[in-house]
Amino acid sequence: MRRPMNFNAGPASLPLAALQRARDELLDFAGTGISVMEHSHRGKEYERVHDEALALLRELLDVPADYDVLILQGGASMQFALVPMNFLPPGGSADYVVTGAWSEKAHSEGLAWAGATGARVRVAASGKALGYTRVLSPGDVRLDEDAAYVHFTSNETIHGVQYAELPRFGSAPHVCDMSSDILSRRFDVSQLALIYAGAQKNIGPSGVTVVIARRDFVERGRKDLPAIVQYRAHAQARSLLNTPPTFGIYLLRNVLAWAKGEGGLDALERRNRNKAAVLYAVIDANPQFFRCPVEVTSRSIMNVVFRLPTEDLEKTFVDEAKKSGMLGLKGHRSVGGIRASLYNAVEPDWVSTLAAFMSDFVRRTG
Ligand code: PMP
Repeated sequence: MRRPMNFNAGPASLPLAALQRARDELLDFAGTGISVMEHSHRGKEYERVHDEALALLRELLDVPADYDVLILQGGASMQFALVPMNFLPPGGSADYVVTGAWSEKAHSEGLAWAGATGARVRVAASGKALGYTRVLSPGDVRLDEDAAYVHFTSNETIHGVQYAELPRFGSAPHVCDMSSDILSRRFDVSQLALIYAGAQKNIGPSGVTVVIARRDFVERGRKDLPAIVQYRAHAQARSLLNTPPTFGIYLLRNVLAWAKGEGGLDALERRNRNKAAVLYAVIDANPQFFRCPVEVTSRSIMNVVFRLPTEDLEKTFVDEAKKSGMLGLKGHRSVGGIRASLYNAVEPDWVSTLAAFMSDFVRRTG
């Protein structure tokens, strides 16, 4: 059976090797006669997987020793709430840099918590009036010097807008939503106080969320909250405060082991940059037909968004691509157009096939 070329935005393509490993081990994990899902999360068989997943994250992302690596539940959306709950004190304030739909959501969850606690949440800058066509740089932003943290989104999955380099917005601790570009390229963890990412794009299945946070920042978090919403409690319990999503974490481990085998972050980054360059080259070579709304320096290497001359042609494009085995190319319903998500597991030859399909589509219909 030939697997479809999967360009879904998330949940997204997973490395075939990680899935095959899961298939091979499904009924009999590590010679125990039962699946990993059926093991106690307090037993040594599962704990080995858990610890390996955490260690691989640390190794692949080169996480400094004074940072905690956590695996939590509730998706990135839960982090939209947990960040202000932990770090925005009553009467305090936090800054949000809004570069697309996801940072908008993060901000509105911050607002909800601020409203309940008499704190303030500010939009330090918004790209909305620009149609979210570029990232916002430190020069665009009005910061509150006393902010408890500044929040930004490294890659906007819907708008296809990505920071080429991690920005520095003043001296407040930086909190970054990296859901759609974690593990896709090298970055310096020590520039950030807290990173969070839903796993379902680059690192595993949905239901698993990775958080990487500087220990002294975690310690500063509010202590009068239920333990389940305190980062501190999860860190102390090594992400085993309650029953974790063991099968999801097992799959995450498989994906991370695959990533390491591929050569780690540098090799994945090279591959990802090449894949994106192939698609942007076709878009730029046909300016009368394809249009990428994103400014060149803010173009995402993970989510390539573009428009065709008409919505009818876009629909035909998506339908024909599907018939040729390419899935998930429809843009997010809120913005329309086309989106090709090029996460780690997306094979370079799928991208070449898509590029050839795009060129051919122009020839036939342009
Ligand atoms: N942030 C970003 C950048 C995302 O792409 C997404 C999901 N597409 C989310 C947050 C929300 O993630 P979840 O559905 O895991 O809550």
